[in-house]
Order: sequence, then C-alpha cells, then structure tokens
Amino acid sequence: MGEEKKPGWKTVPIGGILLEPGSATKYKTGDWRAFRPVIDTNKCVNCLICWIYCPDGAIKRLEKHVTVDLDYCKGCGICANECPVKAITMIEEKR
Ligand code: SF4
Ligand code: SF4
Repeated sequence: MGEEKKPGWKTVPIGGILLEPGSATKYKTGDWRAFRPVIDTNKCVNCLICWIYCPDGAIKRLEKHVTVDLDYCKGCGICANECPVKAITMIEEKR
C-alpha cells in the first residue's frame, strides 16, 4: 500500500477569511474554556463593568445582576479581574 499523499501548503485554503458576515454566533467558542466565571449574585451591584470589558460579549445583562453566556465565554478572566466588588470567581472546568 502506498503512502497517502497529503495536501501541500499551496492547496490548503487561505485562513482568516470571513465568508459570511455576521456569522460569529454560529460558532460556539465556549468549549475552548479551561476556567469558567461564576457570578455571586449577592455581591454583584450590576455596575456592568464586566459587560463593558468582556471581549466576547458573553456577559448578559439581567434586571438585578449579570450572567454569563457559557456558549461564548472563553474563560479569559478579564471580567473577574475588573469586577470592583470581586463578585466573579474563576473556577476550573471539569471535563
Ligand atoms: S471570562 Fe472572559 S470571555 Fe468569559 S465572561 Fe469573563 S471576560 Fe467574558
Ligand atoms: S463587574 Fe461585578 S459588580 Fe459589576 S456587573 Fe459585573 S459582576 Fe456585577
């Protein structure tokens, strides 16, 4: 049996091209996450600083506190770092 011929770099499609605008929500990037943010709703003062800082738009505003859309949160921890009342704790994901 002959060795399978793999495609060379010239035949691999060019990456980083948006083929369809507004398609980011189709790709649930939350499964990259190693740590997840957990909101202490008793401590949260609904200041929305985490909502402003989240690079993935994964913080969702509710009436009295915020929540995290884990389909898109990549677990960077910026929200926990910026929260002025330390209402967000990063916990390790269990697989
Ligand atoms: S951990 Fe990062 S991606 Fe997830 S909600 Fe916080 S700031 Fe957004
Ligand atoms: S930064 Fe902290 S206190 Fe402010 S909305 Fe987010 S979790 Fe709540």
